[in-house]
Amino acid sequence: MVGIKGGSIACCSMEYDYPLYRPPSEARSMIFQVTLGCSFNQCSFCDMYRSKEYSERPWEQVRSEIDLMARQMPDTKRVFLADGDALNLDTDYMVKIVRHVKESFPSLERISCYAMPMNILKKSDDELNRLREAGLDMLYLGVESGSDLVLKKVTKGATSSMISKAVNRGKGAGYVMSCMIILGLGGRTHSEEHIRGTAELINSCSPNYVGALTLYLENGIKGEFLEKFGEEFIPVSDEEALRELQNLVGSIETEDSIVFRANHGSNAYNVKGTFPADKEEMLKNISWMRSHPEVIRPKGLRGF
Ligand code: SF4
Repeated sequence: MVGIKGGSIACCSMEYDYPLYRPPSEARSMIFQVTLGCSFNQCSFCDMYRSKEYSERPWEQVRSEIDLMARQMPDTKRVFLADGDALNLDTDYMVKIVRHVKESFPSLERISCYAMPMNILKKSDDELNRLREAGLDMLYLGVESGSDLVLKKVTKGATSSMISKAVNRGKGAGYVMSCMIILGLGGRTHSEEHIRGTAELINSCSPNYVGALTLYLENGIKGEFLEKFGEEFIPVSDEEALRELQNLVGSIETEDSIVFRANHGSNAYNVKGTFPADKEEMLKNISWMRSHPEVIRPKGLRGF
C-alpha cells in the first residue's frame, strides 16, 4: 500500500500523530485517526508506519475529535479513517465509530479506510455487512502484485488467492474496492511473472478502482527490501515499467467496469481510462509513449 504523506482539510484543528498517510483521492477528506500505525508493518517496500507501534485509539478520544470537527466543519462530505488498517478494529467498535461519524456530519457522502486482505478475511459476512450498513463505503487495499512469488519476496503476508477472495468478499458486501498495484515490484528478473499474476488477480475479482504505482524505495527501507528479496534485485527502468504497464493493460479482460489510473507521482507517465471501454485507447497511448521516450521523465529521477 502506498499513501500520500500529509494532512487533510481538518489538519489545522486537530492534533495528529504523524506521519499521517491517506490515498491520493482522499486529499480533501477529513481524517480521523482511529488506529495508529499498521498492525502488520512488515511489507519490505513500505516504510509508512515503521516509526509507529500499532495501537487502537480509545473511544473517548475518537469521539471528542469527531464532535469537535462536527462543530467546526459540519458540511464535511468525505471522511477517511486512518492509519494503515483501521478495518483491523473489532467490528462492534468500528460500527460505533462509523455510526457516530455518519450521525455527526449530515452532508456526508463517503466514509473510507485502508484495509489489508487479512482484515477483510478475518471478518464474517455478517460483520462486513454490519459495517457497510453503518456507513463504511469504501476500502483501499494494497494488492501490490498477483504473483505469489513476488508477494513472498516482499513479505506481503498474503497470497494472490487471499487477496482475490478479500476483494470479492468486499465487493459482495457492497463496498467500493480500490486496489493498488506496484509496477517493478518483482524487478527485472520476475517482471513477466509479476505482471501475469497481477493481471490474473485483477481478472479474478475486478476491483472498482485499480491504481498502478511504480516501485520507489525511500533510503531507510532500501537495505531491508534488498535483503528480504533473497536474490539480486535488478530494478526496472521507467521504459521497462511502461512495458509492464502495457502488458498489464493488455492482459486485463473484464466485462465489469474498472477505473484504472497510472498517474501517481511515482510513475514516469500518465495513463488512465475505464475498462473495458477504454482498453484499446489506453494501449494506443502506451504504444505511442513507448515510441516517444522523450515524453518519459529524464533518467535517474526515481531513486534507483
Ligand atoms: S500492510 Fe500496508 S501499511 Fe502495512 S506494511 Fe504492508 S503496505 Fe505498509
